[in-house]
Amino acid sequence: MQRQIFTEEHDAFRGTVRTFLSKEVLPHYEQWEQDGIVSREAWLAAGRQGLLGLAVPEEYGGGGNADFRYSAVLAEEFTRAGVSGLALGLHNDIIGPYLTGLGTDEQKRRWLPGFCSGETITAIAMTEPGAGSDLQGIRTTADDKGDHWLLNGSKTFISNGILADLVIVVAKTSPEGGAKGLSLLVVERGAEGFERGRNLDKIGQRSQDTAELFFNDVRVPKENLLGEPDGAFIHLMTNLAQERMGIAVAGIAAAEHLLEITTRYVKEREAFGRPLSKLQHIRFEIAEMATECAVTRAFLDRCIVDHSEGTLDAVHASMAKWWATELQKRVADRCLQLHGGYGYMTEYQVAKAFTDGRIQTIYGGTTEIMKEIIGRSLLA
Ligand SMILES: Cc1cc2nc3c(=O)[nH]c(=O)nc-3n(C[C@H](O)[C@H](O)[C@H](O)COP(=O)(O)OP(=O)(O)OC[C@H]3O[C@@H](n4cnc5c(N)ncnc54)[C@H](O)[C@@H]3O)c2cc1C
Repeated sequence: MQRQIFTEEHDAFRGTVRTFLSKEVLPHYEQWEQDGIVSREAWLAAGRQGLLGLAVPEEYGGGGNADFRYSAVLAEEFTRAGVSGLALGLHNDIIGPYLTGLGTDEQKRRWLPGFCSGETITAIAMTEPGAGSDLQGIRTTADDKGDHWLLNGSKTFISNGILADLVIVVAKTSPEGGAKGLSLLVVERGAEGFERGRNLDKIGQRSQDTAELFFNDVRVPKENLLGEPDGAFIHLMTNLAQERMGIAVAGIAAAEHLLEITTRYVKEREAFGRPLSKLQHIRFEIAEMATECAVTRAFLDRCIVDHSEGTLDAVHASMAKWWATELQKRVADRCLQLHGGYGYMTEYQVAKAFTDGRIQTIYGGTTEIMKEIIGRSLLA
C-alpha cells in the first residue's frame, strides 16, 4: 500500500538522513560496535546536518518544526540501516520536549544551543537497580538545602550514560509524596560527586553506551530544577507518549525491513533443488508477516499523523508501542528461522536485528505496562 502521510519536504529530509548515514555513520559503525560507544564527532556531524533539535525553536539553533513525521523519517532510516547506537531519537524526541516544554528562558538559552549543535549530548535517568516499571520505588533523593539540592542515589540502564553532558535525573524531593514527590533535576558533566559506572555489556545495541550513574552528595543548583517541584510524575506521563511512538515507529520499520531482506533471501536460497520460496510453508510465513506488517503500518501511520497534529492520546501511543514492538519481535524470530544457520551469524543483518530489537518490548515501558495503561483506561 502506498503511504500517504509524507510530503516532498519529508522525502527530501529522508534523503538527507540517508546521506548522513552513509557518510558519517556506516563507515565507522563496526568500530563503534566494538568500542561499545559512538564517537562524539558523529553527534557534531548530526548537528551540522540539522538532525538535532528538529522541534527546538530556531532562535536556539533548532529546526523549529514540531512535525513528528520528521522524527518518524529519522527513526525509519536509522532502523533500516541497522543503526542503533547513535541515539538521536532519544535526544530529539524524548529529552528535547522536556527541555523545550519545561525549561525556563534562562535554561533554554543555557542548554539548547549545545543540544542542537551536538556539543551537549543528553540522557534521562529514571530507572534504578530497584525501580524500573514502578517509578514509585525510586530511592534517589534530592534534599532541599536552600540554594541547591543535595542529590544522592544511583541509576542504571541509562542510554547515553557515558557520553551524556546533561542528564535529567528523576529524584525524590518529598519523601512522603510517593509518585507525587518526584522532581526532575538536570545534572551537568563535571558536577562534583557525579560518577559514571560501567558501560553495560548488552546482547544487542552494542554501540549504544548504556551505563550506571552514581550521585554522591551532588550539589545541584536550584536553577537546574526542570518543571515543577514534585511535578516529575505528571511531566513524565505527558512526555512518555512521544517516547512510545518513537519506539513503535522503529518497531514497524524493523519488521518491514526484516520482511524485505528475508523475502529476497528465500527467493535466492535453494533447498531440495529449488528456491525456498517455492515451498508453501515459506510462502505462508511471508504472507502472514506481510499481512501483519501492512495492518500495523496502517495503524502506525494514523498514529504518526495524529501525534503530529497533537491529538494522539497516551492510550493509543501505548497500543502502538506494544503492538509494533511485539510484531517486530515475532517477525525477527521468524525471519531468523527462515535464514537457517546463516540467520544465527552476526554478519547477517537478520541476526543483528534479532538481538538489537529485543529490547524494544522492554524499554520505554514494557509490553505488560502498556497493557496496564490501556486496560485501566478501558475499565476505569
Ligand atoms: C538497553 C536499555 C536502555 C535503557 N535506557 C534507559 C534510559 O535511557 N533511561 C531510563 O531511565 N531507563 C532506561 N532503561 C530501563 C528500562 O526502561 C527498564 O528496564 C524498563 O522500564 C523495565 O524496568 P525493569 O528493568 O526494572 O523491569 P521490572 O520493572 O522489574 O519488570 C520485570 C518484569 O515484570 C513485569 N512487570 C512489572 N510490573 C508489572 C505489572 N504491574 N504488571 C505486569 N507485569 C509487570 C515487566 O513487564 C517485566 O516483564 C533502559 C533499559 C535497557 C535494557
